[in-house]
Amino acid sequence: EVVVLRLGHRPGRDDRMTTHVALTARALGADRAVLVGETTQAAETVEDITDRFGGPFEVTVTDSYRPTLEDWEGPVVHLTMYGEPVEEVTPEIRADHVEAPVLVVVGAGKVDFEVYDRADWNVGVTNQPHSEVAALAVFLDRLFEGEELDREWENADRRVVPKATGKRVEEVDD
Ligand code: SAM
Repeated sequence: EVVVLRLGHRPGRDDRMTTHVALTARALGADRAVLVGETTQAAETVEDITDRFGGPFEVTVTDSYRPTLEDWEGPVVHLTMYGEPVEEVTPEIRADHVEAPVLVVVGAGKVDFEVYDRADWNVGVTNQPHSEVAALAVFLDRLFEGEELDREWENADRRVVPKATGKRVEEVDD
């Protein structure tokens, strides 16, 4: 299992980014997103996408990230520009993941030092400042070695048919 924990949602300001963190987690192979704070809209959007385009994928909303972070039984990966290079440490994280679920933590505003301290891995996707959405996408793709791109979706009621030009969406019969 791979779960993405999104810290520190600021009401109003972070809505779209939180939605994008959860959509990216879903599209790129995570099983669940845990969103912290006033994020009902983001959770609803992602549930709606999962209903239409398939899953399994779960979203939960919580008031505090601490219980999830503190009680996690498996490697905790915190994505941060101050961390160790993703290309160096991901093979070791992947090896740990064979036996245990991975928690991938991404921030929004300032991240408390306790998160750096609790993490088993502080991982940088470059050491340049950018976005939690981009960092998450690169990390998941490295963790799964690209296999997430070819995933089967269950209980979808529609499916996009890839096309060089134009758009085609098919209804899926169960
Ligand atoms: N100012 C915040 C701080 O000092 O911790 C960071 C804000 S940044 C816009 C939001 C999140 O994007 C970070 O918490 C981190 O999870 C992620 N992020 C940004 N750049 C990253 C990088 N180079 N590698 C990994 N994650 C990164």
